[in-house]
Amino acid sequence: MDLETSVARVDERISAACEAAGRNRSEVTLELAVKTRSSQEIIAAAKQLVKRGLPVVLGHNHVQEAQATNPAIRQVDFGATVHMIGHLQGNKISAALEVCDLVETVDSIKTAQRLVRRLEANYPGRTLPCFIEVNCSREAAKAGVSPEKAEDLTQQVLAMEQLRLCGFMTIGALSLDESQIRSSFEILRNLRDKTVASGGRGQDATELSMGMSQDLELAIAEGATIVRIGTDIFGSRNYH
Ligand SMILES: *Cc1c(COP(=O)(O)O)cnc(C)c1O
Repeated sequence: MDLETSVARVDERISAACEAAGRNRSEVTLELAVKTRSSQEIIAAAKQLVKRGLPVVLGHNHVQEAQATNPAIRQVDFGATVHMIGHLQGNKISAALEVCDLVETVDSIKTAQRLVRRLEANYPGRTLPCFIEVNCSREAAKAGVSPEKAEDLTQQVLAMEQLRLCGFMTIGALSLDESQIRSSFEILRNLRDKTVASGGRGQDATELSMGMSQDLELAIAEGATIVRIGTDIFGSRNYH
């Protein structure tokens, strides 16, 4: 399938899911999950988003891939926003701050503090938009703060001047049981609602980054504002 068709199909699925949930299409952003893809593939997909009047948001799992593809992408004037959606290692913080506009994967106080220290040292006055990643499905293999500790981490991040908490991120339960997948998304939505209702800087934490190729409809039904799509845009991945 060519990118024109695959982007159109995903866009249509998002529209249909919004309609089914009684939501406005403009509430949901299609973020390209670009791991393993070349600059050329990313640019070709981004062009299709632009053609459909959609913003270009790129989600990277690996800082190195963002470093490798960013120069070519920044040359094309998409106004692309680059997010980090993979686990952020301590030794990659500086590089991540060079290439990313937003980090979706703040999952511990340690990561938050490291970001703050690097921002203070290398980018005085810069505020980094970020999401807190929550392991809503409690799967051992997954990154993310546990649901029990998520509120605490949220309050700590809200107190950090250099970080601007804009929302929350999760990967849906790896399950064939739709109710299980939905309840993992519901946990994230409840955390978001509570944070926004707490007022102050919490009012800015409105985004819910959840839903991938397999479960975007369920995520949109549960309130997703960003869905991260790789396979159903680019095809299956070849890991080398
Ligand atoms: C790979 C990935 C996605 C996209 O998954 P697909 O199933 O390929 O759509 C979304 N989010 C994260 C964090 C990923 O690693």
